[in-house]
Amino acid sequence: MILEYHLIFPDSHPRDTWNAGNIIRVKDFARQMRYLKKHYQILPLDDYAEVFLSQSPQSKRAIALTFDDCGQRTFSLVEPVLSQEHFPATFFANTSHLKDGKLLWFTYFNALCFEKSYSSINIKGREYLLQTKQQCFHAWQDLIHQAQISGDAIAYSEAISAKYPLSAEIIENYLGLTEKQIKNIGSSAHFAFGGHTHHHPYLTQLSPEKQQEEIIENKRLLEQIGGKPVRYFAYPGGKYSLPIIDIVKACGFSAACAEKSLNLGEPRFELPRTGIYSPSLIKFILKLIRVP
Ligand SMILES: [Zn+2]
Repeated sequence: MILEYHLIFPDSHPRDTWNAGNIIRVKDFARQMRYLKKHYQILPLDDYAEVFLSQSPQSKRAIALTFDDCGQRTFSLVEPVLSQEHFPATFFANTSHLKDGKLLWFTYFNALCFEKSYSSINIKGREYLLQTKQQCFHAWQDLIHQAQISGDAIAYSEAISAKYPLSAEIIENYLGLTEKQIKNIGSSAHFAFGGHTHHHPYLTQLSPEKQQEEIIENKRLLEQIGGKPVRYFAYPGGKYSLPIIDIVKACGFSAACAEKSLNLGEPRFELPRTGIYSPSLIKFILKLIRVP
């Protein structure tokens, strides 16, 4: 099973804090890793893929760890936990922030809706209150939905961020990997990069030329700064198609992770993953034994 993590938060956050769902603090993450150490074998994504694709019985006990959209704060929190156990992990990282210093379109919405910089916002005549947990979650859900149906999620988010800017401190907590962290991953024997596009668009909404540009620029930057080849790709938002798989192959990737496999007949480019979105150890164990 390939586990898919997103943001991990400092232990100073109260347990019931939300950020696009229940947050996972580093102590919750460490508890999950301790459970894995006792009961599973943690493999580098490369090795896991071979075991999975060959349908070897070993695959039942094999786990690969992946982190999507990897933020600099998340990396600095999980790196000591993973290093202590010598756990291999793959970081699917975006790169546009290295050029423009801006948040990804949806991490901006996470920060806007859950960091309490504004008590309410007005988007195209629609008022969203950002006071209670439910209000924040409703606003976040609707903004993500509006961005999706706008056809250009990045432009939609940028227009709102021009109206509702966030502090430098908040931006730093949500920003992608620093150059130094990319170099650390590059020189680590246990860690690998994965491509995840430059700006994290929905690839299915782009022309083939734009898709290629997004994929290639991200790969080029990670390889140039990190100094090692980037061979795995993860589709942003899990959205892909057969023509997108062809482009990912043409860009030099040897395999790709989906979220849910669409079973398009390309198992090496549709590796399924299991998203971990809860701090609960019980829910974690149920996912590991595939209880929906
Ligand atoms: Zn992503």
